[in-house]
Amino acid sequence: ESYKRISEVEDQVQAFLTLDEEKARETARTMDEKLHTDESKGLLFGMPIGVKDNIVTKGLRTTCASKILHNFDPIYDATVVNKLHDAETITIGKLNMDEFAMGSSNENSAYKKTRNPWDLDRVPGGSSGGSAASVAAGEVLFSLGSDTGGSIRQPASFCGVVGMKPTYGRVSRFGLVAFASSLDQIGPITRTVEDNAYLLQSIAGLDSMDSTSANVTVPNFVESLTGDIKGLKIAVPKEYLGEGVNEEVRQSVLDALKVLESLGATWEEVSLPHSKYALATYYLLSSSEASANLARFDGVRYGYRTENAERLIDLYKKTRAEGFGDEVKRRIMLGTFALSSGYYDAYYKKAQKVRTLIKNDFEHVFNKYDVIIGPTTPTPAFKIGENTKDPLTMYANDILTIPVNLAGVPGISIPCGFDKGLPLGLQIIGKHFDEQTIYRVAHAFE
Ligand code: GLN
Repeated sequence: ESYKRISEVEDQVQAFLTLDEEKARETARTMDEKLHTDESKGLLFGMPIGVKDNIVTKGLRTTCASKILHNFDPIYDATVVNKLHDAETITIGKLNMDEFAMGSSNENSAYKKTRNPWDLDRVPGGSSGGSAASVAAGEVLFSLGSDTGGSIRQPASFCGVVGMKPTYGRVSRFGLVAFASSLDQIGPITRTVEDNAYLLQSIAGLDSMDSTSANVTVPNFVESLTGDIKGLKIAVPKEYLGEGVNEEVRQSVLDALKVLESLGATWEEVSLPHSKYALATYYLLSSSEASANLARFDGVRYGYRTENAERLIDLYKKTRAEGFGDEVKRRIMLGTFALSSGYYDAYYKKAQKVRTLIKNDFEHVFNKYDVIIGPTTPTPAFKIGENTKDPLTMYANDILTIPVNLAGVPGISIPCGFDKGLPLGLQIIGKHFDEQTIYRVAHAFE
């Protein structure tokens, strides 16, 4: 069914970089046989799923939408992919993204521009644009994305689907090609909150292969979908509904709050005073980490290698000059500069301190409230090409999602209305390792 739908719409949506049809059909056949036996079946038995192309899949091309990995076939599966196999899902293929997850529109892919299924002239968001568009277009039931500064929630919002960035450490990053290791998290993109809870359930948990994965019990997320939010205390940061947020977006959040009030919750306005520094802090820290993580792409160990180098140093330089796209180079340069001696204290160290202040803002609010609610993005999906000339306008799109990564807390985006036919997203942010409450609140809208 998935491939049938893909053959109908993929020409327009362009969500996939690689399809794995032969293997998927083979898996489906084995499952079909099992279906008629009494053998126990996985939680997500037979469900078709797409995987973002920065998550490694054994023998299945993994490019991170970069030329530098154009021929990279990993020799192992990421932990999340292993877990999906255990849950008996069927991997349909690998999904388009911004190169190395740097971007907010999928326009930074070296291969293709994924389109928003709601309006093909608009972007699906990014960097997990392929993951969100494929679910919205009905090509797969579920997908996995990664979120370093909004890359699951922003495309979920633009495409009208549900996207969860779990608490940092909830899901193993083993096999996720690193962008900014202290911020990266893998998470589920689905049509419904219930599906999302099932998918997170199957990928979460401690992993000895990732020392930052947390030794925290994984609760039964699905059981928390009780529909009961009586007495819930909601905080609404004034910084999230202020300048730059369009009127329809603001109104959709206020309408959602009314629904929650009618179900017995209360809300109050609060302040996250350091929000205004979040963008600068994020781009400094994430670029610094990226400059170190991307040093491994040198033309020797993986992927693309330039053809015309005589000396080793030229091999490195030319491979990287030819293999990386503009945005990736911009971040590597910014990060290398911020980490260089003489500037380290003024930029990197300062940004680390501001990160702590931002984290403290959240802690302070969570002392008194159960969840924080606001929009996911200041506007609905923009037109393809509209923001490509000015990286700063593109970066500003992440202003409401980035603080969540800096604080390490979980956040979800769920559909909450439309602006001129384009979907809008509601962001629900929770305490560390309290995805349960987020799901409970999100489920109240279904
Ligand atoms: N748009 C942000 C960036 O370009 C977010 C990326 C992400 O979450 N992977 O860095």
